[in-house]
Amino acid sequence: FKDDLLEKLKMNISRETWNNWLSTSEIVHMNEKEVVIGLSNHFIKDTVEKKYNTVIKDTITNILGREVKISYKIKTIDQAKNRTSGPLIKNRPLKLSEFNSEFTFGSFVIGESNRMAYYSSMEVAKNPGKFNPLFIYGDVGLGKTHLMHAIANHILEHSTDLRVKYLTAEDFMNEMMDSIRAQNMDNFRERFRKTVDILLIDDVQFLIGKNNVQNELFHTFNSLFNAGKQVIVCSDRTPDELATFHPRLISRFEMGLIVNVGTPDEDTRYLIAKKMANMISLNLSDDVAHYLAENVNRNLRRLRGAIMNLMLHTKITGEPATVYSAKKIVESIMRMNNSKVKYNSKEAYETIKINSLINSVLDEFEITRDELYSNSRKKSVSQSRQVLAYLLKIYLKMPVKNIAKMLKRNHSTISHSIKKIDQSLLIGNNKLKAKIDNIKEKIENEKVDI
Ligand code: ADP
Ligand code: MG
Repeated sequence: FKDDLLEKLKMNISRETWNNWLSTSEIVHMNEKEVVIGLSNHFIKDTVEKKYNTVIKDTITNILGREVKISYKIKTIDQAKNRTSGPLIKNRPLKLSEFNSEFTFGSFVIGESNRMAYYSSMEVAKNPGKFNPLFIYGDVGLGKTHLMHAIANHILEHSTDLRVKYLTAEDFMNEMMDSIRAQNMDNFRERFRKTVDILLIDDVQFLIGKNNVQNELFHTFNSLFNAGKQVIVCSDRTPDELATFHPRLISRFEMGLIVNVGTPDEDTRYLIAKKMANMISLNLSDDVAHYLAENVNRNLRRLRGAIMNLMLHTKITGEPATVYSAKKIVESIMRMNNSKVKYNSKEAYETIKINSLINSVLDEFEITRDELYSNSRKKSVSQSRQVLAYLLKIYLKMPVKNIAKMLKRNHSTISHSIKKIDQSLLIGNNKLKAKIDNIKEKIENEKVDI
């Protein structure tokens, strides 16, 4: 009779709702007064309670011909595994992308710098939908991607039917472009908005200046949020620093929980070095681990690189890694990374943003680049310089010191310029405001280079 009741419920509820939320439900208990429905996790339970309780209650009351109390509980893993595979259970692929099985919560070392990020990620993995979205930011190589995969791995291990998709913002863009080329955007939207329960988007700063893609991402987020699905985003900037992102996308990011991963202190780095070595069964002596913790101090990818190299070294020589060999390896890694030729992507983006800001200012004030850098006191020229300084500071968060260097002016001149523009705007100089708005609009709507 229990199955019968479910079958009837299914017939009375929209197919979409059923497939999304109730396809794995079970009646775990029922008597004269009460029906208890088992659901697979908190995420589904919360949504069903909030959004579908009324329709479920009405339908069941109707079917039974009497009023009963409806309650929901989470099925234990055993209950979920023992369920008979009847027509009610729809098998669907859970893993919508590949995950790095080494990036787990277990292999992540907790320290002051990443404690909040770690526990927030853990909480999201245990109760998807609770903090939505989760936004993790921090510099390159501090464990953001590791935490994302840890969330995905945890969910896949513990939940019975949540579909998890991880991809970088760049992948998202490429998939989108492929779909546009194939004139198949419907399929793309279906894929991202309908078949995903947990969406993880890595390195979202990649979309700076790519307005079309941001727009698509915004709509993807919206459908997912509205359906109560979990979104997790990583970035090497704070939402605030994604200044040229569309404001509505930023405010989406800000709706949830924002956490930082910072640079780990030396003790934590020591533990991370030990853990990394452990993961690849490398016997790392304490003095070598200390040496690495002390000398590789910012980007943990380099720490990992050093450890992989030490592993190779011990394999080849058949001798345990020494501080001496570690020193050689660290030095060569540092030399490689310090070469001026290679920009890291953050710097490259910074340059692009600054350049496009300068171009827009020149455009708006109709002056040339030479005039901008000249000593001309012509009103339009000096005002354009002040506006540029102002926007570099407010919009791109560039330190006054760097602005002064770039414009070849002294610190106080720049500070003064910024204040002056700020005050003009405050007292309602609409002509100036219009110019600044135009400039901002220009950068925001800049042609997408894809
Ligand atoms: P990000 O995505 O922030 O650039 P990653 O997640 O790729 O950084 O981390 C770089 C490397 O450092 C990875 O190999 C990762 O496993 C490792 N790592 C980072 N933080 C930790 C940590 N707290 N404990 C263990 N390994 C870590
Ligand atoms: Mg990363």
